[in-house]
Amino acid sequence: MSTAYQLIWFRQDLRIHDHAALWHATQAGPCIAMVILSPEQWQLHHDAPIKIEFYLRQLQALKQQLEHLQIPLLVQIIPLWKDIPDFLKQLAQRIPIHNIYANIELAVNELKRDQSVQKFLNQQQKELILFHDRTLFPVASIRNQSNQPYQVFGAFKKTCYQRLQHGLPQCYPAPQTQHPIALDDSLFQQSDLQQLHSNYIQQISTTRYTEWQVGEQHALMLLDQFIDKQLAGYKTARDFPAVAGTSQLSAYLNIGIISIRQCLQALFRQQHGHFEIQSEGQQTWLDELLWREFYQHVLFDFPQVSKHLPFQAATKKIRWRDDPIALKKWQQGLTGIPIIDAGMRQMLATGWMHNRVRMICAMFLSKNLLIDWRKGEQWFMQHLIDGDLAANNGGWQWCASTGTDAVPYFRVFNPITQSQKFDPEGEYIRQWVPELAQLDHKTIHEPYAKHQGLSINYPQPIVDLKMSRLRAIEAFKLPS
Ligand code: FAD
Repeated sequence: MSTAYQLIWFRQDLRIHDHAALWHATQAGPCIAMVILSPEQWQLHHDAPIKIEFYLRQLQALKQQLEHLQIPLLVQIIPLWKDIPDFLKQLAQRIPIHNIYANIELAVNELKRDQSVQKFLNQQQKELILFHDRTLFPVASIRNQSNQPYQVFGAFKKTCYQRLQHGLPQCYPAPQTQHPIALDDSLFQQSDLQQLHSNYIQQISTTRYTEWQVGEQHALMLLDQFIDKQLAGYKTARDFPAVAGTSQLSAYLNIGIISIRQCLQALFRQQHGHFEIQSEGQQTWLDELLWREFYQHVLFDFPQVSKHLPFQAATKKIRWRDDPIALKKWQQGLTGIPIIDAGMRQMLATGWMHNRVRMICAMFLSKNLLIDWRKGEQWFMQHLIDGDLAANNGGWQWCASTGTDAVPYFRVFNPITQSQKFDPEGEYIRQWVPELAQLDHKTIHEPYAKHQGLSINYPQPIVDLKMSRLRAIEAFKLPS
């Protein structure tokens, strides 16, 4: 009888170190690996070309790492997920497959996809064996005293802390090199992949995507640098967009070039892996990692958030304004509010935006412009290199006061005050809005406020901040 192989299905977890499914599959017998690329599905999910290009580049790096382990990688383009069971059927006719190993993905469509694969495999007396790898704790395992999911971050975090006190989640070792496998080479040729990759490179050629280096080693180096050099000052520096005060690891975490366990272990390295918080920086970064964790759990426990619905059902009644011109100006960074325009342009140019500025931009759209947060959420997904349904949806619903422990609706950031506070010298604005580069640090946040006749090629604000704040507060006063 010929050998049957374990099939490892890589998804948003393109690495070989600390990979739950890969580790377990390699313990079960000889393995082959598979990645399914689904361009039409990406489009339905509004994935940004810059994110897909990054993914495809990392895929090449993963392939090389797998070659060292003698694990052949099969890359298959299947435009829509509904066709995956058919493909697996054909594959099984060419390669004897035992079980499929993968890390669980938490959004509704991904869970449905896995259920249909599971159903198909069960008919063949095989299994799709899933592992919790994207989160520190398995979803549905952090519960309140009534065994219900948490709806506020503070209480969720407290329970996470208690769990961490019992021990940090440990990393899986990298698998050993396996014996060479002789299989039909034609299955593993990837000419379509090159073509697909070039298409995405063309779509983002004007951006500075090459700044985003791929590779596990690179991501681990960024992590080490952050822990060694920036963690101590993180609590304060993280709020200043002109300062490189954050880890910039979100794009790496999102497609799994680095794991959340690796981040946690690095964070407590000096405490030899014990959960002992010894500095404000350490505490604050841990809390950010737990915000990520929280939104992943919310995505699983409250699937309405993946279906374009607000977390708080009552907020469905909010009457959003339809204003395509203002929306377009916001999207292009032409609102006449410098900090907003700087953020939106940073994202268009690099695929990344600083967290503080994401909050300011999101609140401006959903409150001052009173435009439906879902339009902003989609625009962010279409442009962010770290676009992640859970974090993006969570961030947007927080800012729009429609989400889990969202900001109270009457608290509306004033973008000018935020700008003066967090970009006091105007350095961030100067970098991304060069037409304001000559202005002094007082004028730059609100150029026309005291100088109506200023001769610059920059728009007047598209909305009056005071009036629009009151308008938003009125619109959010919902009948109970
Ligand atoms: P660091 O400050 O170094 O934080 C470390 C890690 O913690 C991040 O890489 C990220 O994985 C996680 N994290 C930090 N802050 C948050 C947060 N508020 N919510 C969830 N996770 C967090 N993050 C995404 O990864 N993808 C998104 O699509 C996304 N969209 C957002 C949209 C809005 C409107 C807002 C307000 C926030 C969004 N965030 C998103 C969260 C946050 O802005 C980014 O994670 C952060 O800016 C990434 O930079 P960093 O890696 O340097 O973060």
